[in-house]
Amino acid sequence: MIKTKPIVIANWKMKLGLSESVALAKAVRRIGSKDIELVICPSFISLTEAAKVLKGSQIKLGAQDCFWEAEGAFTGEVSAGYLKEVGGEFVILGHSERRQYLGETDGMVHRKVKMALMANLIPILCVGETFDQRQQGATDYVLIQQVTKALEGAPVGLEQRLIIAYEPVWVIGSGQAINPEQAATAHQVIRQTLFDLFPASLVKSNFAVIYGGSVDGANVASFTGLDNTAGVLVGGASLKIDKFTAIIKNI
Ligand code: PEP
Repeated sequence: MIKTKPIVIANWKMKLGLSESVALAKAVRRIGSKDIELVICPSFISLTEAAKVLKGSQIKLGAQDCFWEAEGAFTGEVSAGYLKEVGGEFVILGHSERRQYLGETDGMVHRKVKMALMANLIPILCVGETFDQRQQGATDYVLIQQVTKALEGAPVGLEQRLIIAYEPVWVIGSGQAINPEQAATAHQVIRQTLFDLFPASLVKSNFAVIYGGSVDGANVASFTGLDNTAGVLVGGASLKIDKFTAIIKNI
């Protein structure tokens, strides 16, 4: 993997309404750093207003999901093309909360990844094992399966980026990140799987692996400092500007 400037992706989940999202986007804009690629992912309804706040800054906008069809009779769904239209550049796909609560399967995630790529969005594919799977020694197997099923045959063009976020499910929102060595091992498994799926040159230049799961100001550098880790995906600690500032400062 080519080490570029670290990427920090903020997943605001369903935790902020429109006015709170606009206020936080303004605050994030003030702390933006040219040395870090910063992406905020508000809920769908806040994307348009957040895009206005970010206009002219280096901070980028992402969504938390998209649908696998471009348009049609799919009530309640949001097309990747619509996200692009309102200024979205990234889209989180396959987050464990969607897999758990909305029944998203690897097959659905695969179709969403393909649609995101076709719309020229950068997918942030989330993969990770549950606590039980780790206890059973199945972590590598789960990662290989999730990455392979989501990405096999995906049309990744020479100009397209793809981010894989390793997020151990049992660590998300727990306040206790895993140790960096465990993350590094998982990232290596993910990278090896990518090499099995795509040409090595494409993997090296177009794919990035990041860590997510209870990242905060105190532990962020231990993850971004890893050789095979391009950045972090942050949930809880991205919702309060002082905590998020600590992450940006301590990378
Ligand atoms: C997430 O939901 O993607 C996440 C990383 O959450 P947290 O940082 O709160 O563990």
